[in-house]
Amino acid sequence: MTAVYVVSLAPGADVAAVTRELARRGLWVKPTDGACLLVLPHSAAATAAQLRDIPGVAGVAAPRSEHPRVDAHPAAVDVAGVTFGGGAPPVLMAGPCAVESEEHISAIARAVARAGARFLRGGAYKPRTSPYAFSGHGEPALAWLRRAADAHGLRVVTEVLSEADVSAVADVADLIQIGSRNMHNFALLRAAARARKPLLVKRGMAATVEEWLLAAEHCLHHGAPAVLPCERGIRGFDPSTRNLLDLGAVALLAHVHRLPVVCDPSHAAGRRDLVVPLGRAALAAGAAGLLVEVHDRPGDALSDGPQALPPSALPTLLEVNHG
Ligand code: PEP
Ligand code: MN
Repeated sequence: MTAVYVVSLAPGADVAAVTRELARRGLWVKPTDGACLLVLPHSAAATAAQLRDIPGVAGVAAPRSEHPRVDAHPAAVDVAGVTFGGGAPPVLMAGPCAVESEEHISAIARAVARAGARFLRGGAYKPRTSPYAFSGHGEPALAWLRRAADAHGLRVVTEVLSEADVSAVADVADLIQIGSRNMHNFALLRAAARARKPLLVKRGMAATVEEWLLAAEHCLHHGAPAVLPCERGIRGFDPSTRNLLDLGAVALLAHVHRLPVVCDPSHAAGRRDLVVPLGRAALAAGAAGLLVEVHDRPGDALSDGPQALPPSALPTLLEVNHG
């Protein structure tokens, strides 16, 4: 287990008293040779400066981070005039899994804008498990998406699947989505980052938090102005839900790493009846926004119909439960 901080003790310091004070602040420590205490990763958030003030502490060293740009990333970011994080109201990004037709995306844009969404989502390029499934209308769908969003005062978030499509996607998207399956595609991360647009980076379905943060680091290193990490569920052993929504990771990124993390409860749940409770739970855990799939006729949806919410369900996602 890697320590978060190495706390060195002043000569003659009362080790038990320092340990008690660290514990009082929610920090778990492991003693070493008597001259140092290791602060363990499941501890509460604290800055090195706060720990240096504790009587008996001579110094605090942080092990070198592998992701310095992520560590310095602001807690709040502006994406085309919409603020994510830093106490701003949660941002709703909603739309169909795939952009199905110009008429359809336009009708959905109107409905989600009325329901409080700030971003319109929809894939022009769809990563599909089966080669026989609908894989998106490609470039024409990007233009439909942008026109529909503009007509209803929405911003655009859409996925880029390949390096060859980065410039077409960057021309229409306010926020470029890197899908779960591509979180480890470092060539795509680099190409997307070079478009100099904020990136929404979905967590790979078997990626550790550290690997996810390093994917974000790749993006920032190659020029992305901001990254919104997106938790969308990881592979679990239980098929009851499509994926296992890792709310611990949402809380960790929001409260310890202080990043504008967002959550996609649709791909986590895989079924519409659980999308609202999971989305609300993610907001309670600290998510700065939600990416949600919506369809007016889910039975006819070209992809992911079973998890699509009707637009009328969107406002409940953002209701604060005072009960
Ligand atoms: C999507 O948002 O449409 C999508 C394909 O999601 P994920 O990459 O999380 O599977
Ligand atoms: Mn989908």
